[in-house]
Amino acid sequence: MARRRQLYEGKAKILFEGPEPGTLVQYFKDDATAFNNQKKGTITGKGVLNNRISEYLMQRLQEIGIPTHFVRRLNMREQLVREVEIIPIEVVVRNVAAGSLSKRFGIQDGTVLPRSIVEYYYKSDDLGDPMITEEHITAFGWAAIQDLDEIMSLSLRVNDYLSGLFLGIGLKLVDFKLEFGRLYDDQTDEMHIVLADEISPDNCRLWDVRTNERLDKDRFRRDMGGVEEAYQEVARRLGILPEGGPRDMPGPATMQ
Ligand code: C5P
Repeated sequence: MARRRQLYEGKAKILFEGPEPGTLVQYFKDDATAFNNQKKGTITGKGVLNNRISEYLMQRLQEIGIPTHFVRRLNMREQLVREVEIIPIEVVVRNVAAGSLSKRFGIQDGTVLPRSIVEYYYKSDDLGDPMITEEHITAFGWAAIQDLDEIMSLSLRVNDYLSGLFLGIGLKLVDFKLEFGRLYDDQTDEMHIVLADEISPDNCRLWDVRTNERLDKDRFRRDMGGVEEAYQEVARRLGILPEGGPRDMPGPATMQ
């Protein structure tokens, strides 16, 4: 079957031209990177699991009124999304100290934060995604102050909702990263901010509430082993483990 035109290849995903104008096909790879590309590897079945997990979470968020780029899942590794103008900012929301926050401020991993903390990073592999403030974002014209208000409010709503959802399946949402884009709404003739990219154990820290076992990409970052099993466990608890496991199934590249 003829492949669609590839528009962009990232570390974990490839974007292809979509079947209709204004759409893209987001393909989930098994490739994993960490520490700004210094560590590279493959997590077998990760793409299949992240495609399904992200579909599920984006759908739940849409149900509570969070606008997202997600349209529908096409097959085991691909989903149809709306083409958005990506805002070059990574929004990190933290509930519990871990990762770079623990390191930067010398706070022990697992310390519950007095309130959720939202941080911004500039999306740039060359610069190693530096941490930035609202001042940089508005001064350099990456987003307007109104956009940032919307991004902050959506991020906190996503945090509240997902924290509850994961707690319900025995997982602590320690922290996560979101990306947003602008979408033109021809009904209102306005641009809207929508949630883009993916939400999966690649960009969330998820710890078992009882044992603090890490069920996310930290297992890969820290060579802890059991990475595939951890992603599968998240999907299993969400009740969406693909039948027959996360391995790819042969078949048409894209089903419509
Ligand atoms: O590394 P750090 O502690 O800053 O990561 C915070 C959260 O953001 C983690 O859940 C991590 O998976 C996510 N993240 C990401 N992509 C990045 C940086 C962080 O998904 N480039």
